[in-house]
Amino acid sequence: MGWCSILKMFDFEEERVKQEIAKLGAKRVLIQLPEGLKSEGPRLAKIVEKAGALPIISADPCYGACDLATAEAESLGADLIIHYGHAKLLKYEKVPTVYIEARATLSVTEALEKALPLMDGWRKIGLATTVQHVQTIDEAKEILIRAGKTVMIGDSGRLNYPGQVIGCDYSNVKSIANDVEGFLFIGGGRFHALGLALSTSKPTVVADPYEKRAYSIGEETEKILKQRWASIQEAQKAKTFAVLVGLKPGQIRLEEALNIREKLEKSGKDAYLFAVREVTPEKIMNFLTVDAYVNTACPRISLDAPSKFSKPMLTLNEALVVIGELSWKEICKRGFF
Ligand code: SF4
Repeated sequence: MGWCSILKMFDFEEERVKQEIAKLGAKRVLIQLPEGLKSEGPRLAKIVEKAGALPIISADPCYGACDLATAEAESLGADLIIHYGHAKLLKYEKVPTVYIEARATLSVTEALEKALPLMDGWRKIGLATTVQHVQTIDEAKEILIRAGKTVMIGDSGRLNYPGQVIGCDYSNVKSIANDVEGFLFIGGGRFHALGLALSTSKPTVVADPYEKRAYSIGEETEKILKQRWASIQEAQKAKTFAVLVGLKPGQIRLEEALNIREKLEKSGKDAYLFAVREVTPEKIMNFLTVDAYVNTACPRISLDAPSKFSKPMLTLNEALVVIGELSWKEICKRGFF
């Protein structure tokens, strides 16, 4: 994505930013952007400055609203965080925070028209998307209804919008998975569509408004399933496990980590708790005596793992398969995250 295209493709809500700064009387603002929007940082900083506050751009990686830079804001004396690209996730923020969801301004029509032939035999379709495209979901529903489909949009009450998915919460789609023949996902990239397919075990078609194309994610899902099974098998032979506890505010799952550690030990494994902010190969692979990892932080780490980590990086549910508490069949039904 080029600089100009990013600017045109997303709504950065500049006016609202100025109003919020004035309303809160903010004097020092920490700007947090996901990787794909980072290039906008300096331009957005100028807007903050013109609104009368000192802008500080966080250059650290940010993959979700789980990663709100509260501690950083506190140590910098910032009185406001402007977090771009994600919907609110944490119940309470220690530092006042404004979420700018960066909704895409693109039309979904062309990609949707291309998706229709891929869903030929389906009568009942579940619709899902990320926060960037939730405003298009009604239009997408209309297009599908006109094509003779019955459309369902899941709402578990846990996420901000009906039909929305985030990488660690597919409850909206799971809530309707038994009632539909397949899912249509609106969005770019493959991560959320794969997560959706793995969480629901339903055929999934992607309508990508950025590239104006549509495709089925079935083949890739099969490939990931094979990789996950291989990781579980390798971990079954492992003696020493590290249970990773994420340190980002929305990723801390200490109770689950303690619980799985205890279960691993009871099944005869050695298990240690590792606290980590950014799970990268450089950070964790120096622990040479560890044979396998259980990741309680962000599911994306496990999904991307085979290409990055040389040792198994299991999700919590996969670790339950290793100790014999869940079967492969059950995990396919229940979901991997
Ligand atoms: S934990 Fe991972 S998937 Fe969940 S919001 Fe954070 S970055 Fe996204």
